[in-house]
Amino acid sequence: MVSGLEVRGVTVKYGPTVAVDNVSLRVEPGTVVGLLGASGSGKSTLLRAIAGLQPLSAGQILWDGEDLAPVKVHKRNFGLVFQDGQLFPTMTVAKNIAYGLGKLPKPEQKARVEEMLELVGLAGYGDRKPTELSGGQAQRVALARSLAPSPRALLLDEPLSALDTALRRRLADDLARILRETHTTGVYVTHDHQEAYTIADYVAVLDEGHLLQLDSPEALRGRPRNKQVAAFLGYRAFVTEAEAHRLGWRGTLGTGEVLGIGPASLQLDSHGFEVDIIDQTLTIDDWEVKVALPDGQTATVSSPSKVDSLSVRVTLVGGAVVPA
Ligand code: ADP
Ligand code: MG
Repeated sequence: MVSGLEVRGVTVKYGPTVAVDNVSLRVEPGTVVGLLGASGSGKSTLLRAIAGLQPLSAGQILWDGEDLAPVKVHKRNFGLVFQDGQLFPTMTVAKNIAYGLGKLPKPEQKARVEEMLELVGLAGYGDRKPTELSGGQAQRVALARSLAPSPRALLLDEPLSALDTALRRRLADDLARILRETHTTGVYVTHDHQEAYTIADYVAVLDEGHLLQLDSPEALRGRPRNKQVAAFLGYRAFVTEAEAHRLGWRGTLGTGEVLGIGPASLQLDSHGFEVDIIDQTLTIDDWEVKVALPDGQTATVSSPSKVDSLSVRVTLVGGAVVPA
């Protein structure tokens, strides 16, 4: 028997549109799987299917080996968190968090609410109304509410995407810590690569309803299954071992493999290989310098300041091993 959550050959259609196409994956107890893909790739549809909110056209959703088809949404014991936390506007924060605790005696409810507020860093906020919270605080309350009844799994659909970038990064770190501390079994939908790497133990890459690859973030980035996945992860140029060595790379490739060059693969190096600069863009972190590789492909290298010349010297220090 497979313990935890299993998605087995699930297909979901909207009329003629196949939104999720024969997807199989497992979420082991205490781990979080991220569903990462562009908008429209079927992430929300798959999450809703797991929750029981979306009928399956084929396949099964199982928990500890039991088919959940006859189990209604509210009986699945899954917590749900959406982009907009959907707090009850007239209830206080404490009442919102206590919402799923009806079975517990009042003093225990109160203790659980306090514990959850502490967990999400909002101790003392119990008497506020949702309108008196920032967007980030509201999402913390939504998380507390969904975790309070100790669901056997937590399903989150882009819970941070309505927040501004800096806050999103900070909350992603907090969320990762909270999910680990509570040993939560979870499925986390996002289109943000960084967020997926921060929060998920394993990342499932979805494209047009297909599961392209499911791996740890390290394995995914180091060995994308094919060039399509590699390109999705940001590897824009692909070179042979000989070309890689010419650019200063020290590794080895197997037969039929190429090296994908991504945003962190090249480094400035005054003793490196000289490449022409195509253009330079200022980002929040650095200057992103676009360069032409010897064979005409383009790649980028990060520079702390604008480069004041037509060419620059680089060394290839990393990359992804991909089937050619
Ligand atoms: P994601 O969450 O990755 O952005 P969705 O699961 O929302 O993707 O959508 C997957 C596909 O299904 C898209 O092509 C979308 O247009 C379609 N879709 C989503 N919801 C509906 C719906 N209620 N009716 C018809 N088509 C839908
Ligand atoms: Mg979605």
